[in-house]
Amino acid sequence: MTARRCVTDVAIVGGGIVGSSAALALRRMGLKVVLLERDLCGSRSSGVNYGGVRRQGRPLSQLPLAQRAHELWGRLPELIGTDGEYERSGHFKIARSAADMASLERYRALSQGFDLDLELISGERLRARCPWLGAKAVGGSLCPADGQANPRLVSPAFARAAERAGALVFERTPVDEVIGDRAGFTLRCGPTLEVRAPLLLNCAGAWAGQLAAQFGEPVPMHSGHPAMAVTEPMPHFMDWSLGVEGGGIYCRQVARGNLVLGGGAGVALDADRARSDRQAITTLARQAVELIPALRDAQLIRTWSGTEGYLPDREPVLGCSRTMPGLIHGFGFAGAGFQIGPAVGEVLAELARDGRSSTPIGAFGIERFAAQPGAAQAPAASAAPAAAAMAAASRPTSLPVLSHR
Ligand SMILES: Cc1cc2nc3c(=O)[nH]c(=O)nc-3n(C[C@H](O)[C@H](O)[C@H](O)COP(=O)(O)OP(=O)(O)OC[C@H]3O[C@@H](n4cnc5c(N)ncnc54)[C@H](O)[C@@H]3O)c2cc1C
Repeated sequence: MTARRCVTDVAIVGGGIVGSSAALALRRMGLKVVLLERDLCGSRSSGVNYGGVRRQGRPLSQLPLAQRAHELWGRLPELIGTDGEYERSGHFKIARSAADMASLERYRALSQGFDLDLELISGERLRARCPWLGAKAVGGSLCPADGQANPRLVSPAFARAAERAGALVFERTPVDEVIGDRAGFTLRCGPTLEVRAPLLLNCAGAWAGQLAAQFGEPVPMHSGHPAMAVTEPMPHFMDWSLGVEGGGIYCRQVARGNLVLGGGAGVALDADRARSDRQAITTLARQAVELIPALRDAQLIRTWSGTEGYLPDREPVLGCSRTMPGLIHGFGFAGAGFQIGPAVGEVLAELARDGRSSTPIGAFGIERFAAQPGAAQAPAASAAPAAAAMAAASRPTSLPVLSHR
């Protein structure tokens, strides 16, 4: 079979919300894009997550990205042609003790200046506003403009919007070989497709570590599998999406009445598939009833999980490779990449076009793992601006080919 060959400005591995929104942003900048997804776009973490679209509780390092994303979420229909059931319903972080309440107060003080408008609520006001909350809750912090969305609608819609904008999107097309040389990258997808590009975005989610390692930048990423469950529809009583200070459980009610619950760890079936664990679901159900006693008689109608990449500091890798000009990473979102995904896509597009981003991303550089035990001692090449990589790609070169197979 003759392979189809494509030459493009930017190739993207991974059609989750990150790769798909990067593809859309690149097309809006006028660059040619090929997006390669081994399954269906938005079918992995990006399509099976809890649907929390929250800024509250993020590390301060992520708030500029989260703010940028917040603005994009507000324009979803214009950007991707659907509202994806996105609602600014409010996100309420529950305190179960005075210490939790103090911690929420500290966060409010530290995050001033990021327009979160956090409101601390406790005592009588809490009971009046949410009579459905169990006695364990002593108060909490409300971020009124945070919210929720349906990931199954939103994430594939970014890929479809990128396609309408002119990106070439290949689904069920695993990238199984990447060769990098001074002229750029050659990506092979079985015998049928070969893509050449001077720029490559590594948006392969929990599977992105392999590509980073291939180019001398191994990262200590592990896969995690948050446990999820959904109840039968119940009469609507709750607008807010709930979380708990210190973690544990999160819960939201969708317009048709079902409550979506998350918390605890599921189990991996293999490198690609995961499911909820029976013990995790039992604990989740108990915690849910403590939080919202009305759930006592609710039936769980489905449980599931997904596969997500976690780095030890729970911050993503977002930025240019230090070892391979033209390679740009965006992965490892530690169970919190859905909200920031659209902004990450724009940042990746800026890095591709300009070699830098207008949003601060200094905390997310891959070089923070370079000195760790087991990390390869790769030559510390500067993060060559991507535009330089594109220019290099258009020059004939007699330099030896660097194969990173
Ligand atoms: C159960 C669960 C609940 C979560 N809840 C929330 C939440 O409420 N709020 C929030 O903000 N975040 C949440 N997250 C995290 C969020 O879903 C992820 O951080 C985000 O979706 C990551 O997007 P991504 O595009 O990087 O990864 P993915 O969606 O995993 O996309 C990566 C894609 O790369 C593809 N790929 C991998 N290797 C190759 C290859 N060789 N060739 C071609 N394609 C390849 C994969 O098939 C996949 O589609 C949750 C995650 C999970 C699992």
